Amino acid sequence: MAHSSPNLHGRAQLVMALRGKGIANQSILEAMEKVPREDFVDEVFVAEAYTDRAIPIACGQTISQPYVVAYMSEALEVGPRMRVLEIGTGSGYQAAVLAHLAGRVYSVERHRPLLEAARKRLEKLKLHNVVTRHGDGLKGWPEQAPFDRIILTAAVENVPKALIDQLKPGGILIAPVAPQEPQNLPVESIYQSLTKIIHSQEGLSEQSLIKVLFVPMVAGLP
Ligand code: SAH
Repeated sequence: MAHSSPNLHGRAQLVMALRGKGIANQSILEAMEKVPREDFVDEVFVAEAYTDRAIPIACGQTISQPYVVAYMSEALEVGPRMRVLEIGTGSGYQAAVLAHLAGRVYSVERHRPLLEAARKRLEKLKLHNVVTRHGDGLKGWPEQAPFDRIILTAAVENVPKALIDQLKPGGILIAPVAPQEPQNLPVESIYQSLTKIIHSQEGLSEQSLIKVLFVPMVAGLP
């Protein structure tokens, strides 16, 4: 397995593309450059690993578009000592990027096969500061709470109170929030509003960022 120049080249190109799309934060770009996205997709998609697109993974899910991973990581304002909770491990790619930015990443996934594949990848990359758990992420990870940062990588109509309750004062939560009005559109074309919730001394404040397209969060275990 040659993890050599073509992949490094692909990553460098991706980072240039992200810069062109407005990702300016150097530590985010460096983290994106460190993570070999080709390791997070099926073999048939390796040639597309460094295009800025979401790609299908097992269990009918997707690995997010790199721009969205970079954008969300930036919006999360992660610092090197922080504890970050991710809901929706999927391929493990977003967790791997966060591992380079945070102190520790806690990631929850409801599909066991996805979780196991993600664990192997993270282990292979020696990202030992990521811990994962099989479970319903809508409940968070109460035993490890509170968290400095929480990121949801599947769409919700409302951010569950259980997750807000696991956010530290001063904490930030990022989530794709789906519109609540009926859209009369196929589910795959209903865009969500990426929402940033800041838990400050004055209470919770909410900000809408960009439009995104995530698979829906599903309650319970398959
Ligand atoms: N962050 C992932 C992409 C996530 S796709 C990556 O970088 O590859 C969304 C993931 O959320 C899917 O894997 C899906 O199974 C998971 N998911 C959906 N509902 C969930 C829930 N209630 N708890 C935990 N994971 C959930």
